[in-house]
Amino acid sequence: MPKTSSKTNPARELVFGDLWEYDPAPETADPKLKKRYDLFINGSFVAPQAGKYFPTINPANETKIADIALADAADVNSACIAAQKAFVGVWGKMPGKERGKYLYRIARLLQDHAREFAIAETLDGGKPIKESRDFDIPMAAAHFFYHAGWADKLEHLAPGRKVAPHGVVGQVIPWNFPLLMLAWKIAPALAAGNCVVLKPAETTSITALKFGEICQEAGLPNGVVNIVSGAAETGAAVIIHPLTTKVAFTGSTEVGKSIMRSLAGTDKKMTLELGGKAANIVFDDAPLDQAVEGIVNGIFFNQGHVCCAGSRLLVQESVADAVLAKLKRRIAVLRVGDPMDKNTDLGAINSREQLAKITDLVKSGVEEGAEKCDNGCKLPAKGFFFRPTIFTNVSMSHRIAREEIFGPVLSILTFRTPEEAVEKANNTPYGLSAGVWTDKGSRILKLSTQLKAGVVWANTYNKFDPTSPFGGFKESGFGREGGKQGMLDYLSVG
Ligand code: NAD
Repeated sequence: MPKTSSKTNPARELVFGDLWEYDPAPETADPKLKKRYDLFINGSFVAPQAGKYFPTINPANETKIADIALADAADVNSACIAAQKAFVGVWGKMPGKERGKYLYRIARLLQDHAREFAIAETLDGGKPIKESRDFDIPMAAAHFFYHAGWADKLEHLAPGRKVAPHGVVGQVIPWNFPLLMLAWKIAPALAAGNCVVLKPAETTSITALKFGEICQEAGLPNGVVNIVSGAAETGAAVIIHPLTTKVAFTGSTEVGKSIMRSLAGTDKKMTLELGGKAANIVFDDAPLDQAVEGIVNGIFFNQGHVCCAGSRLLVQESVADAVLAKLKRRIAVLRVGDPMDKNTDLGAINSREQLAKITDLVKSGVEEGAEKCDNGCKLPAKGFFFRPTIFTNVSMSHRIAREEIFGPVLSILTFRTPEEAVEKANNTPYGLSAGVWTDKGSRILKLSTQLKAGVVWANTYNKFDPTSPFGGFKESGFGREGGKQGMLDYLSVG
């Protein structure tokens, strides 16, 4: 019998194409949404003083979900006064072990209401239900659990020194992980003994306002948490309010810079979590199949609306063709569509504006000479969707290699030596995250010190944990969220 080798007779690849369609598997629980959401100030839901509301829509079908209260400077002022009163009267002087009990209660209530929150998050923001169900909501609860544990141990954060809360903290968050970003901000602030005024992003206010209901259910003292919905002007009012002694902002670098300018000359404490353009670096000794999964997760998780997305793939030249072939096969089977379907991999782009920004940057990539490839899948007729897209023949000067796209678009570049990989990875104004795929532990350790990034993942990507500090270098901002370092940013150390 003639011998067959895998070289002469490779295993046949099973390609099903569109022979079978998945049956729809929609999530059906009731997200308990209201038609109108008021501001959450001093423990109650109150109408905005000017009586203005704005619509929030479902980006997957462009239908209106609810009207959201638009807070102006007068509403922000009421929220800051309520927070100051709660800080002076109750929260700031409450023993840590009592504060911790409230945080534990909030964590458990988020778990109790997890399904409802996951659906609300998906409807309002467009992310796949499997992500809001398995990542966003459980991680938000995990942040409250973790920080509850710190509330009565603050003195261990700076042994031998005195730590004290700042007072009222003003917080502004983006739309990509609405409840999770809220948890990253509110949990450490409360554990440290601060009271907060938080502004959610204008396209995703619902889960933040539903969080007000959780605060009520937890019996949190009035004014400890205040949620003021609105757009840029509301955020600016929170940040410049004289009662906010510390400001925590997550969002774009452009707005971060304007916030720094507006606070110059004040003695407010500040942390900024801004944009990124991470390099995900694949060496020729890496486990390539695992690396491809990491690349896909790194750029297509949450439609690429991720500050630390691995949006620049740097692959060693000798394995570039193999990686590209595997990547193309993997992308071909990604399912884009109804975010409420449990089989969906990529849901809706968060807004029409974001879709226009992604489209514009992709157009620039083609015009500047890069080679575009998407998975060619059929997109829903309504709503904001974008196919998973990769670019080859990308040069470092292309806009798609330099600017944050914040969408499902990967720019692929190659390198020959580790030195070249580091040089290319660091050649960006950002410094939030990076990934390294290699078999060599020594190389991982060396690169983790050479890469100018706040987080370096090794043989994995997009892994998060409340105990692990997250934050940037350079134009990705300063300050940390999570872990001991994140707690210290909410305390003054004497
Ligand atoms: P954005 O900067 O436009 O808005 C962020 C928030 O700031 C929103 O709530 C917005 O209403 C508010 N805002 C806008 N202008 C303001 C102003 N002048 N003063 C005060 N508040 C203002 O960002 P976005 O488009 O909502 O979010 C995407 C950006 O967020 C991306 O750049 C992404 O990388 C970044 N991000 C960073 C992290 C991180 O941890 N580093 C996490 C998530 C998102």
